Amino acid sequence: MNVDYIISNCQVVKPANTFHAAVAIKNGKIVLIGDQALMAESGITAKNVIDAEGKYLLPGCIDPHMHVDWPDWETVSATRSSTKAAVAGGYTTVINFLNGTDTLEENFLSSKDCFEKNSYTDMAFHMAIFTDEQIKEIPRMAELGVSSFKFFLPYRGSEVVAPLKGIDDGTIYMGLKEIAKLNAPARALIHCENVELVFKLKEKYMGNEPEGLTWDDVRPPVCEIDGVRRILTFSEDTGCPVYVVHTSTEEAVKDMQQAKGNGIDVRTETCVQYLTLMATDYDRTLGKVNPPLRMDKRHLNALWDGINNGSVDTIGSDHAPCARKHKPDFWSAIVGMAGIQTLLPVLLSEGVNKGRITINKVAEICSYNVAKTFGLTPQKGLLEIGSDADLILVDLNKTVTVKAEDLYHISDFSCFEGWELTGSVDMTMIRGEIVMQNGKAMVEPGYARFLPRVAAPKE
Ligand SMILES: [Zn+2]
Repeated sequence: MNVDYIISNCQVVKPANTFHAAVAIKNGKIVLIGDQALMAESGITAKNVIDAEGKYLLPGCIDPHMHVDWPDWETVSATRSSTKAAVAGGYTTVINFLNGTDTLEENFLSSKDCFEKNSYTDMAFHMAIFTDEQIKEIPRMAELGVSSFKFFLPYRGSEVVAPLKGIDDGTIYMGLKEIAKLNAPARALIHCENVELVFKLKEKYMGNEPEGLTWDDVRPPVCEIDGVRRILTFSEDTGCPVYVVHTSTEEAVKDMQQAKGNGIDVRTETCVQYLTLMATDYDRTLGKVNPPLRMDKRHLNALWDGINNGSVDTIGSDHAPCARKHKPDFWSAIVGMAGIQTLLPVLLSEGVNKGRITINKVAEICSYNVAKTFGLTPQKGLLEIGSDADLILVDLNKTVTVKAEDLYHISDFSCFEGWELTGSVDMTMIRGEIVMQNGKAMVEPGYARFLPRVAAPKE
C-alpha cells in the first residue's frame, strides 16, 4: 500500500503509554502504527516520510473552551486569528461557545458557515442558554449536532457583560431538566460562581480600595465553591450530566470528585492559567478573569494533584482574546485573556519538563478526555488506526520566549509575556494534512470541518 505520509522514528504518546514507532497516514486517517519492520512487512511505502527522531507524536489537542471573538471582535478576522493561534499551539479541534442573542438555530447556522469559511481547525459548538425560549430549542439543536449547552451562574445585574444576558437559578434548573431528556453526549456546562457575594464585595471595595486589592478579593474561592455545590445538587436532582468549566479551587475539585463517587455524572475542567499564575503574578487589570487567578498557592497545587489523581478531567483554554483597549482600569476591565497558543507550551514546560505530570497525561486531558466527554471519539482524540490523522509533533527540548507580538491571536498582550518555555510544537496535522510547520501556516483559512455531535431523545 502506498500511503500519504509515514512519520517515523518518533515517540508515540498515548494516555496509557509511550513507545518508539512509525505512524502511516492515508486519506486523512491513521492506517498503521508500528516499527519500521512492520511497515516493510506490510508493504507500506509513502510519498512523504517525516523523520521525527527525538520528537514526540501526540494526538492533536482539542479545546473544550474557546471564545474566538470575545468580547467584541469582528467574527471573520477573530475566527481566523484565534484558530491560526490554535494550530500553532498544537490544537486540531476547537469547541467554540456561541453566546448570541438570536434564536439558537440561526446563531448556530451563521457561526457554522463562518467557521467553515475561516477556521484552520475542525470545530464543534457549545451554545449558551439564557431564556425559556432558548430552552425550548434544546432538542432541535441536539438533532443538528450541538448537544452541549452552557449556563452562567455569575453574569447578572451589574456583572452582566454583553452579549451575555442574566439568567436565574430557576431557569438554569429547567434547562438541566430539558437536557436530561437527551442521551449522551448531551451535557450542561456551567460557570460556577455565586454572584450575590460578588455584588456585596464590589460594594465594599469600590471607591474604598485597600492597598494590593486583587480580583480574588472581590470574587473569592467561596463564590466558586458555593456555585459548584449548587450545581451538583441540581445535577443529582435532574439527572443532567454536567461539566464545570475553569475550576480554580481545591474545594471545588474535591467536591466534584466526591460527587463522582456518589454516581453524579460531572466532569472537571481547569485552565493552564489556574495551574501556573497567582493573582499577584501578573498585572491585576490585564490578568482580570472569571474566576480570578488565586492568591493562595494551595489551589494551584491541588489542581496539579487533581490532574495526577484523575479528579481533573480536562484542560480548557478559556481563550477570550481581550486586548489592552478592553482593560482601561481594574474595575471597568472586561474579563478574559487570550491563551490558546501558549497553553500547550506552558503545560509542557511547567508540567512535563518540571516533572509535575507525564506527557501521557497531556494526551489524556488535552485530547482523549475532551473527545470522550463531548462525543467526538473515535474520530478525534485517539492516536489509533482508523481515527483521523490529527497529530502534533512536539520537541520537548526547544525553548521559546513568549512575546505577544509573535502570537497569532488578535489580543495584544499575553499573561506569559517573557516566560521562557521549554517544549514546543513543530508540526500540526489535521486529517492527514500538515496545517502548521515551525509556526508557519501551510493551509488556507477554511480548512475546517464541522463535527456534529447528535444527541437523541431518551425513550
Ligand atoms: Zn469561558
